[in-house]
Amino acid sequence: MKNKSAQKLQDLHYFGEFGGVNPSISDSSTYTFLSAKKMFDTFEGNTEGCYLYSRHSSPSNLYLGEALAALEGTETANVYASGMGAISAVIMQRCEAGSHIVSSRTIYGGTYALMKNFLPKLAIDTSFVDITNLEKVEKSITKNTKMLYCEAISNPLLEVADIRSLSKLAKAHGIPLVVDNTFSPLSISPVHLGADIVIHSLTKFINGSSDCVAGAVCASTEFCLSLKDVNNGAGMLMGSTLDSLRAASILKNMRTLHIRIKKHSENTLYLAQKFQEDGLKVAYPGLSSHPGHNTMKEQMNPQYGFGGLMTLDVGSLDKANALMELMQKENLGYLAVSLGFYKTLFSAPGTSTSSEIPLEEQEEMGLTDGLIRFSIGLDNNIENTYLRMKHCMERLHILGPKTTTLA
Ligand code: PLP
Repeated sequence: MKNKSAQKLQDLHYFGEFGGVNPSISDSSTYTFLSAKKMFDTFEGNTEGCYLYSRHSSPSNLYLGEALAALEGTETANVYASGMGAISAVIMQRCEAGSHIVSSRTIYGGTYALMKNFLPKLAIDTSFVDITNLEKVEKSITKNTKMLYCEAISNPLLEVADIRSLSKLAKAHGIPLVVDNTFSPLSISPVHLGADIVIHSLTKFINGSSDCVAGAVCASTEFCLSLKDVNNGAGMLMGSTLDSLRAASILKNMRTLHIRIKKHSENTLYLAQKFQEDGLKVAYPGLSSHPGHNTMKEQMNPQYGFGGLMTLDVGSLDKANALMELMQKENLGYLAVSLGFYKTLFSAPGTSTSSEIPLEEQEEMGLTDGLIRFSIGLDNNIENTYLRMKHCMERLHILGPKTTTLA
C-alpha cells in the first residue's frame, strides 16, 4: 500500500488574506452577522461557511483540521486544547451512564486514569485487556460496549496493535475502533487499516517543538460535526477547543513532519540495534526480537520507519535514575516526560507517565521499574550519541567493562 499522506499535506495550500504564503490567523473569539436571520440559521446548523464563535470553530482550527484529515485519510478532523481533551470528547460523545469500553491495558497513564478512576463516577465502566489477545478482547465485549480503544503503538511498552484484526472484530460487533496514533504519525495510518476514529496528542511528534499542548480527533464528517453540535456536542459543550493562535503555529510545524519522522526513526533504529548488540534489554518495534515486529511490518508505511521511541530496561529504578541524571549532565538529552522533541527525552514511566497505573498492574503488563522510555531526538551524528550514551552506561556499570574511548 502506497501511503500518500505526506504528499496530500504538501499539496494543501491556503493563502493569507493579503496573499501571504501562510493563511491569516483568525484573531477573534466571535464573528459578526449581516442579518439576525443568518445568525439564527447558523445556530441551527443550517448555514455553511459561517463562523459563530471560536469554541465552535475558527478558520485557523479548520485549516489545521484539514491538514490532520489529510494526514490520516479521514473526511475531516477537529482540534482540541490537548490530547486528553480529544480523548475525553470522543468518550463523552459515544458513551452515557451504563456504557462500557473495552480498552487496551497498556495505554498512556492519563487515559488509563480517566477510564479507571474518573469515568466510573459517570457510570461508564472499562475492561482493560491484553489487546494482542484477540480472543480475550472479543470475550470482553458486552451489549453495552460503545467502543474498542487502543494505541497503535502503546505508551510506554511499545506494544503494537493489530489494527486490521481489531477492526474486523469491532465491525462484527457494530462498535467503532478508536486508535490513539500519537506514537506513530505517518508510520501507521490506522484508518487505512480499518480504524474508525483516530486520536492524536499534537503535543508530541506532530507539533514537534515541545512548546504547547493540543489534540485532534480525525473521523467522519458526521462524527466531527456531532462533537461540535451546539446542543449535544461534547467538544462544544465541555469546551476543550484549541486556541486559533496555537492552531496556526502547529500547522506550520506540521509541514516538516515527514522529514522529522524519518530522522527520528533512523536514529532510534540505530541506537536500538547497537544497544541490543551490547546485550542490553531493548524494546523497539524495528527489532526482530520485538513481539510486535511482524505486525508492525505488515501494517506500517515503510518509508517512515518504526518510530522514534524505544525502551531500555537497566535493571532497577536506582540505576535508571542514575543513568538519566548522568545523560542529562552530559547533554545527551533531557530528563523529561513527553516525546517528539528535537532533543532526546527520557523518563522512567513507572514513576512518571504511567504512575497512575497501580504497581501490581504495572508488573502484570511487564512495566518494570528499571525501564527507561526514550524519545530519540534528531541528532545529526547518532554514532557519536551512541558512543557517549554507552560511555555513561559503562561509568555506572550498567554495561561493563569499559571499552569506549571518546574522541
Ligand atoms: N495519548 C498518548 C499516547 C500520550 O502519550 C499522551 C500524553 O503523553 C496523551 C494521549 C495525552 O496528550 P496531552 O498531554 O496532549 O493531553
